[in-house]
Amino acid sequence: MFKEDTIAAITTGMSNAGVGIIRISGDRACEITDMLFRAANKNKKAVNMKSYTAAFGGVYEDDRMIDEAILLVMKAPHTYTCEDVCELQCHGGIVVLRKILDLVIKCGARAAEPGEFTKRAFLGGRIDLSQAESVMDIINAKNDFAARTSVEQLQGRLRDKIIDMREQILYNVAFIESALDDPEHYSLDGFPQKLEIIVDNLVDSVDNLLTTFDNGKVLSEGINTVIVGKPNAGKSSLMNMFVGEERAIVTDMAGTTRDTLSEVINVRGITLNIVDTAGIRDTDDVVEKIGVDKALESVDKADLVLYVVDSSIDLDENDHRIMSRIQDKNVVVILNKSDLEKKIDESNIKKYIDADIIQLSALTGDGSEELYELLNRMFFEGTLTYNDQLYITNTRHKNELVCTKNALLKVKESIDMGMEEDFFSIDLMDAYEHLGLIIGETARDDLADKIFKEFCMGK
Ligand code: GDP
Repeated sequence: MFKEDTIAAITTGMSNAGVGIIRISGDRACEITDMLFRAANKNKKAVNMKSYTAAFGGVYEDDRMIDEAILLVMKAPHTYTCEDVCELQCHGGIVVLRKILDLVIKCGARAAEPGEFTKRAFLGGRIDLSQAESVMDIINAKNDFAARTSVEQLQGRLRDKIIDMREQILYNVAFIESALDDPEHYSLDGFPQKLEIIVDNLVDSVDNLLTTFDNGKVLSEGINTVIVGKPNAGKSSLMNMFVGEERAIVTDMAGTTRDTLSEVINVRGITLNIVDTAGIRDTDDVVEKIGVDKALESVDKADLVLYVVDSSIDLDENDHRIMSRIQDKNVVVILNKSDLEKKIDESNIKKYIDADIIQLSALTGDGSEELYELLNRMFFEGTLTYNDQLYITNTRHKNELVCTKNALLKVKESIDMGMEEDFFSIDLMDAYEHLGLIIGETARDDLADKIFKEFCMGK
């Protein structure tokens, strides 16, 4: 059905970027392209070009060149949509791109609906539904974290997890059916107890995925970063430096930042979700102690620890306590107060933690560039990795997981009530179906349509 028409869209952003791409997909992609694109080498025609080859030339309306372009030809079935795909990379701004798209449509293509290229990839069997949805998330990803989570989903981590759970369920349903059909060979003695353990594990897995839904939302705002250090090291000042305004309370009385404060800030395109913590030191003050405990807790959850040290004084017991706590984390040591005379011996820090050390003055901002550069480098080199957790960021996935969990809980209920085994199968199959809906295995067309409608135009 979808093979009948050839679709086209501008696949790059709707802004005046340096290069804009028009994608044409379908049986007539090459034929239509040849109607408007002329290669500098006149012998080159899209219909005759080999798959994954390019040609330089121009897009023409009658004899007038609209823009120079590079044509990339990809032939079915090894393309994004599993169909013939031609991509025209043009130089022009949005006005020129629209003009070219108009021309493509005049030549016989239809304007693609939002998400239609990805829908074809799905219908062509190249990707499953959760992968298709991740494409949408990638397009919409506000920052690199979100993009990375989506990429992982696209590579099928979520799908693998779901397939694994479905296999366990199916195996047990099949076992029940077999045992009921052939009691001589398959015994159900002790089966409910075994099944209960399996169901418990499945519920745990679903719960784990569900908790990441909330975390995923928070974390998609940035890398979990925590600022730690002894009281008065300059943690609040560092936070202020990041935020660029005096929001945290800065005082020279040790122990003022008692609770945790958090901010989402953007450093050269990467987003940090920064928590400023109470100064960590041994204390008898009950309120302060709560802050210290909270600070230590934030350290455990953090992807990145910014350890602030006052370089104008020597290390002490409290520093050693902090260092032992952050040894296994991704740490950047900030030798703060670089505007004052240096009293600290860095080698004493290096003995304890293997981390980059930055000299900085949170007061004057000296050294901030080096810090930002380091953070960027760590991020792009991949040193700064996120939790190795698989995140659910899509509301539809979440809803299906909730239904899966409810069905599994019903299985448990039936087991506890000592029901007949065939009762288990009904709810197990229900869980199986809901898991299947996440990856599109049991997806009805209307569901697929609804999902693809949410895609951006041109993807
Ligand atoms: P916190 O307790 O770790 O949050 O430390 P604060 O940020 O409240 O800073 C403690 C004191 O050190 C304040 O008086 C700050 O003005 C001062 N301070 C912070 N950073 C610097 C710096 O880079 N240079 C100097 N000279 N003083 C600083």
